[in-house]
Amino acid sequence: MRCVFIKTYGCQMNERDSEQVAKMLGERGYRMVADESEADVILLNTCSVRDMAEQKAIGKMGMLRKLRKLRPHLVLGYLGCMAQARGGSLIETSPHVDLVVGTQKFHRVADYVDDLLRCRMESLIDDVRRPIVDVDEEEGSQRAINGQEVADGQCSAFVSIMQGCNRHCAFCIVPQTRGRERARPIVEIADEVRTLAARGVREVTLLGQIVNLYGRQEFPSRDGLSPFVQLLEEVCAVDGIERVRFTSPHPIGFDSDLVEAFARLPKLAEHVHLPLQSGSDRILKAMRRGYTAGAFSQLVERLRATRPGIAITTDIIVGFPGETDGDYLASREIADRIGFDNAFVFRYSPRQNTPAATMDNQISEDVRESRNKDLLEVVNRHVSLKLDAMVGTDVDILCEGKSRNNPDRLSGRTRTNKIVVFEGAPRHVGEIFPVRIVRASSSTLYGDPAVLE
Ligand code: SF4
Repeated sequence: MRCVFIKTYGCQMNERDSEQVAKMLGERGYRMVADESEADVILLNTCSVRDMAEQKAIGKMGMLRKLRKLRPHLVLGYLGCMAQARGGSLIETSPHVDLVVGTQKFHRVADYVDDLLRCRMESLIDDVRRPIVDVDEEEGSQRAINGQEVADGQCSAFVSIMQGCNRHCAFCIVPQTRGRERARPIVEIADEVRTLAARGVREVTLLGQIVNLYGRQEFPSRDGLSPFVQLLEEVCAVDGIERVRFTSPHPIGFDSDLVEAFARLPKLAEHVHLPLQSGSDRILKAMRRGYTAGAFSQLVERLRATRPGIAITTDIIVGFPGETDGDYLASREIADRIGFDNAFVFRYSPRQNTPAATMDNQISEDVRESRNKDLLEVVNRHVSLKLDAMVGTDVDILCEGKSRNNPDRLSGRTRTNKIVVFEGAPRHVGEIFPVRIVRASSSTLYGDPAVLE
């Protein structure tokens, strides 16, 4: 049986795309392997948002070349955002690569791999190579990321509901790599969620670049409800699904119907990942984010008032071009005032062909690094405070399986998306049950279900 190894660099959307490619290849008779040295086909699905992921993937692809000496028929390919952004230039810089497939062509990967492998198997001549590059746009391609395999004991799944983004934040390459917003129909998504529930999934996370602007191009509002809130209602109505999450929303897409949904729909979990990016209005404007720091704070207050105890996490960029000490301190101040449950702090990294990359007043690496370190201290202080405050409380967790760091323990998630590690038994996996939090480290909670049984 022909074997495939897929390595994913990037966000949950990339992970979901890789799952879909694996499923399509599986349907053609390929077997997924965890060890690249066993593979006949190696695919790197690579994010483009940060330079580091691209450099890692390019370095990895360079190293994979030597495997071809052992397996002359080996097919090597790039998929995803970096493939979309760089296209055929990847073949010029890495002539040993056979396949470059962009974000609107995942559904063609199995055909291309079949062709390339057949050619290789038949000729076995290493220098007869016809690389395939397909980074064209394709209408309806958002509907190709659908249905998925559910592993034994899997209780949580990501569901891709749309592709693309129509905004043009100055630092972001996503509109170039993912194209314009395109939504899957509500009925298709609800069907996928029903199938997942029938296979034992208890929690779904709806995925989109601006997930809360879902369907605004394609579907009408109804009874004052946006297409996204209509979709949430449908998904929450699916029997067997106990928790519904979504990521990532944009502050500008939080109209009152969505805020109120947190009061009406109990299955909506108490967690919103709400990217702030900067606490300075001047920098938010330069970033083209479309909101002010004040509007962001008000939105957080409305969410907290609507669903007390809701967790808010965020992304913040430090060192955006032109960011003064005062601008940075505004980010620090809002992070300290809001007290996020967690935050990803990014040092600004210029991306080719984005407006910010050529802006004046690029910030030195030293300054970016020191702001990053300083802001992380603020963020981590709040994370610790929130976790410590949970010690002694009882919370419901969904047990996802073995803990990543210690396979002798199990790990679950609270509704507020906090990880709880505990001593459990196989019967706990996939179940929702209460645990008492007995200890907190800087990032993890430790629980005990036994005291409550
Ligand atoms: S909203 Fe901005 S940051 Fe988010 S994907 Fe679109 S362009 Fe990128």
